[in-house]
Amino acid sequence: MWYVISSPSLSLCFFSLIQDLLGTTMNSTVLPPGTYWGQYQDITKFNTHLSVAERLWVAWYAWVQNDVLATGIMSFVIHELFYFGRSLPWVFIDSLGFFKRYKIQSSKVPSLREQWDCAKFVLLSHFTVELPQIWLFHPMAQFCGLSTSIPFPSPWTMTYQIAIFFVMEDTWHYFFHRALHWGPLYKAIHKIHHQYSAPFGLAAEYASPIEVMILGFGTVSCPILWCAFTGNLHILTMYIWIVLRLFQAIDAHSGYEFPCSLHHFLPFWAGADHHDLHHEKFIGNYSSSFRWWDYLLDTEYTPDALKRRRGKKVKAKKTQ
Ligand SMILES: [Zn+2]
Ligand SMILES: [Zn+2]
Repeated sequence: MWYVISSPSLSLCFFSLIQDLLGTTMNSTVLPPGTYWGQYQDITKFNTHLSVAERLWVAWYAWVQNDVLATGIMSFVIHELFYFGRSLPWVFIDSLGFFKRYKIQSSKVPSLREQWDCAKFVLLSHFTVELPQIWLFHPMAQFCGLSTSIPFPSPWTMTYQIAIFFVMEDTWHYFFHRALHWGPLYKAIHKIHHQYSAPFGLAAEYASPIEVMILGFGTVSCPILWCAFTGNLHILTMYIWIVLRLFQAIDAHSGYEFPCSLHHFLPFWAGADHHDLHHEKFIGNYSSSFRWWDYLLDTEYTPDALKRRRGKKVKAKKTQ
């Protein structure tokens, strides 16, 4: 079978690999179809300088023989695996009554039935709304210059880029989420997400398809925008960013606040107690990952913020 690889950078790298392998020119390269692990072994034999992750990556694209399909399948599987994989421990924690003392709204523990209904809705949305968009991801990523080649970027490059994406996405999320709380938009779009006044992990993506598109656009477009300006982004960094953002969203909806929760160490990190209050009170705490936008624009809804606001009002009255 002839190998057809559409990603230019990956094609180059892969064809030079095959040339090394067979000592032939690109035009006369013919390989048997083989299995994924057969591909992996072939690549391993002649590319000992590559890391295991890089060999797995190259073997995947080489085996699928279609970059759009390879990226599409990988993106969808990663999303499902990490969304449900991260949510499942919270389902057990709720059902078995672990960590009851850390439940924020302790009288509102979701039943298994509620969680199952929510999971069905989310799955339907993933297959009908997200899957077609994920299929467009590879062509869009290529158009914007995202790399799929090896070697992978260094851990430092991935770390600083992901930190920037968290800040950018949080800004997008704050303003669009706040806009979704405007009466007509709330009724038409955002009300679905607020069906659960005491959220749980699986409810992170329980939302109208329009909301999934508006807020999901921030998650995807911030890295794309970064790449458009810098020309420096690997799809792997994008995947790690999306997985971390999923973890953030699921944990923020978990309904549990622990003494070891991240915001106790990083005071500007939002965390579950920030978003749980948003679901309980339907107002304030609009941002996703950080607390600074709510603080700066006075939309924080925490006991401290309420106290501060009351203090300001009293002061204003006294000066009148
Ligand atoms: Zn909301
Ligand atoms: Zn929410």
